[in-house]
Amino acid sequence: MSENSPLKWIAFETTKRCNLNCVHCRSKNTDLKYKDIDKKNVFLLMERVAEFSKPVFVLSGGEPLLRSDIFEIASYGNGLGFKMAMATNGMLINDDICKKINESGIRICSISLDGSNSDIHDSFRRQHGSFDGVVKATEIFKRHNIPFIINSSFTKKNQSDIENTYRLAKKLGASAWYMFIVLPVGNAKDDMEEIITKEDYEKILEWHFDMEISEKDMKVRPTCAPSYYRIFAEKAKKLGKNLERRNLSFSPDGSKGCVAAESIAYIDAYGNFYPCSYFSQSAGNIFEKSVKELWNSEIFSSIRDTSKYIGDCGVCEYKKICQGCRVRSAVYNGNYLSKDPFCDYKPKNNH
Ligand code: SF4
Ligand code: SF4
Repeated sequence: MSENSPLKWIAFETTKRCNLNCVHCRSKNTDLKYKDIDKKNVFLLMERVAEFSKPVFVLSGGEPLLRSDIFEIASYGNGLGFKMAMATNGMLINDDICKKINESGIRICSISLDGSNSDIHDSFRRQHGSFDGVVKATEIFKRHNIPFIINSSFTKKNQSDIENTYRLAKKLGASAWYMFIVLPVGNAKDDMEEIITKEDYEKILEWHFDMEISEKDMKVRPTCAPSYYRIFAEKAKKLGKNLERRNLSFSPDGSKGCVAAESIAYIDAYGNFYPCSYFSQSAGNIFEKSVKELWNSEIFSSIRDTSKYIGDCGVCEYKKICQGCRVRSAVYNGNYLSKDPFCDYKPKNNH
């Protein structure tokens, strides 16, 4: 193990199969010949990561519990020294599964809750009964002492329910609540009109700041909203406070905006290695290159090097703590090093 390895968190798409078809899914499966990577190759993939680092290793999907060998995979990762975690939609959680989660060494689960009631959540998840399934899953997790993070995704469809969803996550006993403003990738790309406007995005992040400074029990963070770190710094300064951001264990580094390619990476269901789970451009395949090579590839190196950024992000005084969303830049501007189109901040250095 490389003690100083910067790779701290990695998610692996264990399968593209899913029992839901959510409006925002990044794992959209259009490959009719798709088959899961077999267990032997999953083990090989994990060994290749372990040669480079021992990060938090998230078994993601699709729905990972649809793999009959998921707990063998979790145990294997645990044996390699990873801190194992699992991202599930919660529909298949029961007592037996929770026993296996504990036995296999999975230390934390994340579960998705996209609204504070069944009408909102079920229409987002496109499955009647999925809200009740999530609530029930959280109760079973608690019975088995499995800590869980609640991830909530928002588009125009459910943005009015953000605050209620936060309150429900807290009531359900989540150790952390991560708010995600959906990006136009995967299924969400089919309906760009549903993406929250940048004006509302900024207002939501301002609301998050006010909520975060008064939230004492649960860790909270907006996922993939790097300019929040600019808003956080500006607002904290106005309040005359030195507000330290909390340590978000088992999560991508919470100390700065975007950490793609810097401390996190993503491996898809074919073994392709990406700076984060929303990138469409990969650095190569883990079965063909070492993780060290992938980590030092052009795409990873250039994302880490903020001097390569162009437009406002390139001259921004906040770029080291924010970094902008490189995926939004790629999708809207065709260049992942360009200005994050969801930030209207005019850098001081530009005047
Ligand atoms: S590039 Fe965007 S989507 Fe990827 S980790 Fe950074 S903020 Fe999130
Ligand atoms: S201009 Fe770029 S680096 Fe600066 S705050 Fe906005 S997104 Fe972040």
